[in-house]
Amino acid sequence: MDAPREPQRRRLSAPAAVIGGGWAGCAAAWTLASRGIPVVIHDAAPVLGGRARRVERAGLPIDNGQHLLVGAYDATRSLLRAVHGGRVDAGLRREAMALVPFAPHPGAVTLRVPRLAPPWNLAAAIALAKGPGMRDRMDALRWLKALRDAGFRRAADETVDAMLASVPARVARGMLAPLALAALNTPANRSSAPVFAHLLDLISRTRGASDFLLPVLDLSELLPEPTARRIEARGGETRLRSTAVVIGTSTDGVDIHAAGATWRAAAAIVAVGPHQLAHALAPAVAGLPDAADALEATSAMHFEPTATVYLGFRERLRLRSRITRLDDAPGQWLFDRRDILERAPDAAAARALQGLVAVVISAGGAHDDLDAKALSGRVHAQLRRLRPTFPVPVWSQVIVERRSTFSCVPGLRRPRSSSLGPRLHLAGDYLDPSLPATLEAAVASGEAAGLAVARELGRG
Ligand SMILES: Cc1cc2nc3c(=O)[nH]c(=O)nc-3n(C[C@H](O)[C@H](O)[C@H](O)COP(=O)(O)OP(=O)(O)OC[C@H]3O[C@@H](n4cnc5c(N)ncnc54)[C@H](O)[C@@H]3O)c2cc1C
Repeated sequence: MDAPREPQRRRLSAPAAVIGGGWAGCAAAWTLASRGIPVVIHDAAPVLGGRARRVERAGLPIDNGQHLLVGAYDATRSLLRAVHGGRVDAGLRREAMALVPFAPHPGAVTLRVPRLAPPWNLAAAIALAKGPGMRDRMDALRWLKALRDAGFRRAADETVDAMLASVPARVARGMLAPLALAALNTPANRSSAPVFAHLLDLISRTRGASDFLLPVLDLSELLPEPTARRIEARGGETRLRSTAVVIGTSTDGVDIHAAGATWRAAAAIVAVGPHQLAHALAPAVAGLPDAADALEATSAMHFEPTATVYLGFRERLRLRSRITRLDDAPGQWLFDRRDILERAPDAAAARALQGLVAVVISAGGAHDDLDAKALSGRVHAQLRRLRPTFPVPVWSQVIVERRSTFSCVPGLRRPRSSSLGPRLHLAGDYLDPSLPATLEAAVASGEAAGLAVARELGRG
């Protein structure tokens, strides 16, 4: 007997468009292509990935910036699982969240979050932390309990500095403020307490939610490149160096102008950065009420830089952990990136190097005015000050992303709707008011927009 036939799927008269091929756009495109919807993705840049991509330097596949995820990032984890073949944490390496000083220094705190069920994980981490005295740790535990009892809610206009004012200084400065700065990429005196409290809530909910997840592939191979392959396999296309503008939208489709021509998509997702939105919408579209609201919200946003200093060494490095804490003067965190050398065994630079680290400086500061040479010199001097025997680098690269994330300030207004008009949706890391600019916010918004379009096109 013949197997029952699948119902014939209606052929779509036009593909869906995704404008912007960062992680939000890639998540949207993956969602659409996986439902059999052909996608045309436009990106103004020569490569996909946006603010999370591989850059080649001297043949080395380094990342434009160090990206760290946590176990609570469910949307990203499940997308990467779909992309890389069904394994839990595919493309990622999991380790317990830890603060391990690069070298002993005044104010340093050592802490490891054990794999206990919440709330015992964070409580045990604080109780067993090295650095703060017993009394400080007990006060910090009481503070954490009060935060949990209040449902991790803080006043909308409160800063992280104000939130941490009642935490013993050693715990606030050595533990909580560095985590807040890394997650919100905004200095504590102007970063949002409600957003940081929400992140503490997320990492306290389930066993493993606080774990660090480190990419084991370069950022392009983690999501953007597999997405491009899937788009092509499902009858779609990736158009790079293709700046696109939405010029009209109706229930019949969305008109898009790119490379001197206009084409009609069945539906479109605008997944550009918040500072790029105004250029992606023509005046007729920008005037739609929800588009005007989104433009008002994004035009009020300010942005923060992130600097990443790669240092290469002829010798193997002895580091206490893959991720170690520095003393913020100026480097904040040091990542052991020998994985990059292992992935690029044929590059001349990789052959010459035995050790590679990435030093991260989140948000702006006194280092902003330094050029690349001065900044890498300053970071190396910092490492030698902390550990006088640390070797001298023979290779360095500095990547400063000037608009790395929006400033995650208290009360930051976000667009009220991610649906702008008939068949036109937004995706991006700035849409969820509970989250800072993260891969998780980008991926979750991209998937939501992809699902909304799939429903509109009868493929939900
Ligand atoms: C150095 C650095 C470190 C970071 N560290 C972390 C971290 O540790 N953990 C974490 O979770 N997040 C981190 N982030 C944040 C994370 O990278 C971003 O939140 C995320 O990549 C944003 O994705 P997106 O798709 O929303 O936007 P984008 O990546 O900005 O993508 C927008 C895309 O749209 C394209 N575009 C713009 N206008 C047009 C147009 N008119 N037509 C066509 N294309 C257009 C752009 O070229 C770009 O590719 C970091 C970011 C940086 C820069």
